[in-house]
Amino acid sequence: MNEKYIRFTTKEVTPPLYGVLEDEKVTALASAPWMGIEKTDKSFDLKDIKLKAPVEPSKIVCIGLNYHAHVQASQSADKAPDYPLIFLKPPSSVIGPEEKIIHPQQSERVDYEAELGVVIGKTARKVPEEKAGDYIFGFTCVNDVTARDLQKKDGQWSRAKGFDTFCPVGPWLVRELNYRDVLVEGILNGDIKQSGRTSLMIFNIPFLISYISSVMTLNPGDLISTGTPAGIAPMKPGDKIEVKVEGVGNLVNHMA
Ligand code: MG
Repeated sequence: MNEKYIRFTTKEVTPPLYGVLEDEKVTALASAPWMGIEKTDKSFDLKDIKLKAPVEPSKIVCIGLNYHAHVQASQSADKAPDYPLIFLKPPSSVIGPEEKIIHPQQSERVDYEAELGVVIGKTARKVPEEKAGDYIFGFTCVNDVTARDLQKKDGQWSRAKGFDTFCPVGPWLVRELNYRDVLVEGILNGDIKQSGRTSLMIFNIPFLISYISSVMTLNPGDLISTGTPAGIAPMKPGDKIEVKVEGVGNLVNHMA
């Protein structure tokens, strides 16, 4: 059985606790799971909790243009990059499952981007590619929400990618995943709009961890969002957007 690592609140429990979900039962953990998985004697039924984003990253490192079909459909580049294009989203952009994505007034076009998220398990600095797997704690779904018009307008991506609520994460972390080949889907109002396998990434996950950690130290709990397959499109108020990663689950959010 693949245990699921969560953050949650209940009517009585605020601020959020980390926990482990097995079947329908939640056991609170003494700390974030990457600090050591220590179960407490507090347990809850799944129906009594509210899921929050399963991480509180010190940074979110994202990869742009990491699937060939997305590069071909994109107006941001003529060809696949020679090396990973990395950018940051601020921790303040993170929201959890079922939390609302807010359309900022500054933008005319806000897109979803379904992505596989990788959560770092221990401090990673200049990690060789062949050791990169040792630094992974687990995997989750990420929606790299993007104000597409502002991305084009600014050149720099911080504003377009960095609005509050622009980083839905969840619904949980799983530890075991055949991450080199899982299906990543973006589903808008029930229609599958994006569908790509991670085997089609231009730069694979061990290479990305090595590359990023040669630039900046990755802390336990940091999140890497590994790029989106083809099929991005805008969302409008009221839309339901799901990021589905095979072997992980479905992250569901609505646009306010
Ligand atoms: Mg992206």
